[in-house]
Amino acid sequence: MFIFDAHIDTLSRLIDSGRGFNEPQGHVHLDLLLQSKIGAQFFAAFVSPKFYQGMALHHTLELIDQFWQMLDEYSSDLAFAGSGTEIMQVQEGGQVACLLAIEGGEALEGKLANLRMLYRLGVRLITLTWNHRNQLASGQGEGDAGGGLSKFGKAVIEEMNTLKMLIDVSHLNDPGFWDVLQVSRSPILASHSNARALCNHPRNLTDEQIRALADQGGVIGVNFYPYFLDSSGAATIEHVVEHIAYLAKVGGIECVALGSDFDGISLVPVGLETCANTVDLIPALEDRGFCSREIEHIMGGNLLRLCTEVLG
Ligand SMILES: [Zn+2]
Repeated sequence: MFIFDAHIDTLSRLIDSGRGFNEPQGHVHLDLLLQSKIGAQFFAAFVSPKFYQGMALHHTLELIDQFWQMLDEYSSDLAFAGSGTEIMQVQEGGQVACLLAIEGGEALEGKLANLRMLYRLGVRLITLTWNHRNQLASGQGEGDAGGGLSKFGKAVIEEMNTLKMLIDVSHLNDPGFWDVLQVSRSPILASHSNARALCNHPRNLTDEQIRALADQGGVIGVNFYPYFLDSSGAATIEHVVEHIAYLAKVGGIECVALGSDFDGISLVPVGLETCANTVDLIPALEDRGFCSREIEHIMGGNLLRLCTEVLG
């Protein structure tokens, strides 16, 4: 079965630790990824707040270099994919399709020219904000008072539509979420967010947001972070299944995907300790009553459909 994960922070882990992708550390490394049967993976270049002051693009380029070095070094196992068609081609060649994302619009440093150059470097997805306010919009940490998309944020959405890039609303505050849905001509991704009705955290989506995003053909990647699964912070693989079932109930089966957040989370649910356990969701979803066609949609089919639709 084709498995596709919308968000991991492994590039940051590699840079911060100075380790190689082949060294056994963290939630995702070469051996685990190959064991995991994951067919396609978005790697996020996360712009940490410590780089916001004039170093955001600089650090993003360092993370992008890390991505391309990793692909060069393990070229027999990993290959770049920049579209739905390329994901399928890489898959047929027996390699893992690797897609490049940026988490934090700070990377653009207020210029559309940077957006266009980052596209040329392989970036196909941008998570518009992290938790704070930036030149595009406000993250959930700012609350509703942070307001929605700025004029520059709207220009970025329009340019991303033209370039055929995926717009990611995870981390955005609620006014920003609604602005993006109104401005974008393409369906939207929430790469790593859950259902707020099951776990009342601002990083999660309300029923209204789930429905609106799904109505436009968007997709939501379920996040494995225990505090986004259950407010107690004690979660198992069953909590992930609960969120999947809830998103499918509210938004329809076609909006559900996976966005583990591996290597970006300090805690993991019992039963989903590393990317090699992602496949264990299949029997868990079967037990929950999903049929194999539905499970294929959830595990990767929906996200692939969105990539094909938006990226080409
Ligand atoms: Zn994140």
